[in-house]
Amino acid sequence: MIRDIVSDEVHILGAGLSGLAAATILARSGKDVHVHEIRKDSGARFDGDFQGIENWTGEVDFFDELAEWGFDTNEFKSDAFGIIDLIHPDDVVTHPETDGVAFRVVERGTSGHTIDQGFKRMALESGAKIHYGTRKPPEECDIVAAGPRESSAVAYGEIFETSHRNIVAFQLNDKLAPGAYSYLIIIDGIGLICTCLWRKQRNSGRYLDETIAWYEENYDLNRKPIKRVGGKGDFGLPTKYEHEGRFYVGEAGGLQDFMWGFGMRYAITSGVLSAKAILGELDYEKEIRGRLVPLVRASAINRFLMNRVGDRGFKIVANQWMRDQRRKGDGLSFMRWLYKPGLIRRALWPIVKIGMLRKKILSDGRVVHRMPFRKPLNRDIWEPSERARKIREEWDSVRKGGGKLSFQESDS
Ligand SMILES: Cc1cc2nc3c(=O)[nH]c(=O)nc-3n(C[C@H](O)[C@H](O)[C@H](O)COP(=O)(O)OP(=O)(O)OC[C@H]3O[C@@H](n4cnc5c(N)ncnc54)[C@H](O)[C@@H]3O)c2cc1C
Repeated sequence: MIRDIVSDEVHILGAGLSGLAAATILARSGKDVHVHEIRKDSGARFDGDFQGIENWTGEVDFFDELAEWGFDTNEFKSDAFGIIDLIHPDDVVTHPETDGVAFRVVERGTSGHTIDQGFKRMALESGAKIHYGTRKPPEECDIVAAGPRESSAVAYGEIFETSHRNIVAFQLNDKLAPGAYSYLIIIDGIGLICTCLWRKQRNSGRYLDETIAWYEENYDLNRKPIKRVGGKGDFGLPTKYEHEGRFYVGEAGGLQDFMWGFGMRYAITSGVLSAKAILGELDYEKEIRGRLVPLVRASAINRFLMNRVGDRGFKIVANQWMRDQRRKGDGLSFMRWLYKPGLIRRALWPIVKIGMLRKKILSDGRVVHRMPFRKPLNRDIWEPSERARKIREEWDSVRKGGGKLSFQESDS
């Protein structure tokens, strides 16, 4: 339904990417925009970690789309990549590549050059008022942009100084990253090694230690740890994106990529669409269902399949990716294909809904089909290597010397 413009005041819950994108567009159109953020600053949910903005789920380059919406991509630092090291589960390394931009690495956090601060500046310059360190009931807001609520998966990373050249490596490995992947990103002398856990684990820090040990053995990192970071991802498909007159955007609206967790593009896009809906330019529910839900669903189906395979399945995926690149001459076409609904994926959807998602009624009355955090498997029990134990001791001493841990490693 296209909205009537009732009031000039707009209240947004959450000053993350989705909320700030919405705030900028609305304030530029003359609305009196108030953003209510529980933390002290935008980006404070993150702490200097690198994230990739994907460039494969849309027809156009995402930065062109941002420019079209009026966002200045020079407001934050980004580094474009067209090639990665793809590390297969048996440690073979191949190189998916494309002539254009496959993704851009940005930094998250509160430093001036982060994407969070770039979007904050644009929102403030457009006239939006951001109230940090405040709480506001979601029922009193027009846009709910408060990020994830629960955990379906977690990621842990270490940030370090390094002398290695800029690189992105992506590793499919069910031992180091149960059900998921780990990655190494190095930009201008700063590195991040991160492992994602799509199965809940005891003493989860050991996965990061073992992952770091693996990268150290295979890359000449000359690593000096700075801090450890992390966060959670909430994966669920709500039955409605507009509920009781409120728009749910970004991860608060379940707009997150179930397969790899690339949620930034959906967050900004949904923030923009919610603003345009408030301005009476489009129907939010219809736009989200047309543009983003098919991508999220395809990712959920892929995730369902990934949950069923271990390293043997990951190896098939990696080989398939390279075969596709050899055939088409472009490594990005495989990533694009992964997000296409297609006949088989559509046929699988009812099975995925029953087999992977659990219906939940949220406190605000919305119904969500959530992916619960999966239980560990027997193969997740293993003894840390000697090098991983040393890495843990090294981190403990860095921590005692002031190294920051911005995310609680779970031990239950
Ligand atoms: C470790 C990690 C790595 C990731 N890597 C990638 C990646 O490489 N590429 C990618 O695309 N995505 C990645 N993601 C996902 C991406 O970060 C999110 O999908 C994206 O930030 C979601 O944006 P958002 O606006 O919905 O939420 P956020 O950017 O999280 O913003 C939500 C804001 O709401 C605030 N808030 C929360 N509750 C309240 C409340 N009650 N009242 C007021 N304010 C509130 C929060 O403090 C926060 O500032 C990663 C996530 C994690 C955790």
